[in-house]
Amino acid sequence: MADKILAVKGMNDILPPASAHWEWLEQTLRTLMAGYAYRNIRTPIVEPTGLFVRGLGEVTDIVEKEMYSFEDRLNGEALTLRPEATAGVVRAAVESNLLYDGPRRLYYIGPMFRHERPQRGRYRQFHQVGAEALGFAGPDVDAELVFLACDLWAQLGLSGITLEINSLGQPAERQAHRGALIEYLSDHMDLLDDDAKRRLHSNPLRILDTKNPAMQDVVNGAPQLMTYLGAESVAHFNGLRALLDGAGVAYTINPRLVRGMDYYNLSVFEFVTQDLGSQGTICAGGRYDGLIEQIGGKSAPAVGWALGVERLLELLKEQGLLPEQPVPDVYVVVPSAQAGRQAASICRALRKAGADVQMHAATSQGQGSMKSQFKRADASGAAWAVILGDDELANGQVACKSLRVSQEQRMVEIADLATWWQEVRT
Ligand code: ATP
Ligand code: MG
Repeated sequence: MADKILAVKGMNDILPPASAHWEWLEQTLRTLMAGYAYRNIRTPIVEPTGLFVRGLGEVTDIVEKEMYSFEDRLNGEALTLRPEATAGVVRAAVESNLLYDGPRRLYYIGPMFRHERPQRGRYRQFHQVGAEALGFAGPDVDAELVFLACDLWAQLGLSGITLEINSLGQPAERQAHRGALIEYLSDHMDLLDDDAKRRLHSNPLRILDTKNPAMQDVVNGAPQLMTYLGAESVAHFNGLRALLDGAGVAYTINPRLVRGMDYYNLSVFEFVTQDLGSQGTICAGGRYDGLIEQIGGKSAPAVGWALGVERLLELLKEQGLLPEQPVPDVYVVVPSAQAGRQAASICRALRKAGADVQMHAATSQGQGSMKSQFKRADASGAAWAVILGDDELANGQVACKSLRVSQEQRMVEIADLATWWQEVRT
């Protein structure tokens, strides 16, 4: 035998039965998005590398070390597997003029790629659901996006998810804070790790976001961006807070919440759980008023969030909230080769009536004894077995047997199977 070819490290197959949980979650999300009038957008997995370098900022974890970038072998174009989808959504919106001539509330579901060290809640191919509102300047849409996420947690029955918010102000305000921050950090050089030293002049704000326990004291004492905000930024932040307060949405203000991408300004927020260990951020987002212009569009405000599907599913599992596996309604028992010739058409008639039907595939699985076929019927989880006995078929009938406690059995005319199913379906 040839060597086995395995999946790429950090990239997972999503197989049944787990895939049913994905489908269920996706369906819940689509319904919720429709309820907020967010419309689905599907952008390419591969984008020009420049889109991310320009959109995310050169001194970000993603652009510095996490991107799967390659050269197109035919034309030398620099391409990248998307590490996130906001930049692609904005590119598409600009390219197709959605901001002035199309839906501006958008959502996506799909795979993202980042070359990170694989661990629980952190993969190299992972999936995000994202919501983006393009062309809206006010805190009302920031709040709308927060409510959207809160409604999702509530609908899924999740508990213990907390909301943290912060304001990153505007670039000029960040610039003023940056000077003070660099000065403060330079005074504590001996307490900084290598990453922080490297970022000191390129992206000092990101140092506040460090997960290194040894640096918590020094970053806690750092100058806070919040105190550098001008009146308009403060008004935007207070506007968001008032809307959250009015809706009874609890939150904490985390002055160290800065987010990974350069494109954020004003409101930023994260939904966090303690139930998943260190990868506890389920959903993160904020305002990115500068991105559209940076990507070549006419300047326009925007706000959005992205949630990690793997982490959300893990949390649902942790809290015992995943739905039961789907099972067929009916298992069709095929005791003879002769019955096999009618099996497919009977199954299709049942399906047309709305039943989910699993057929015993006699020529593939072997005829087997009735007993072994009933074992399979039981294992399938079906509520009913429909038995295609030769004698019954000769009379145009089949036997329908409940596999539940009742064990009820009755003869049904093949022509009446649809009516039978309407009667017994629960
Ligand atoms: P982290 O600080 O955990 O690396 P991030 O700031 O890089 O997160 P974002 O880019 O904001 O994350 O992505 C939004 C969400 O996508 C995260 O909150 C998380 O739930 C999920 N996510 C990000 N990276 C990964 C990954 N490598 N594997 C699985 N989920 C991820
Ligand atoms: Mg990251």
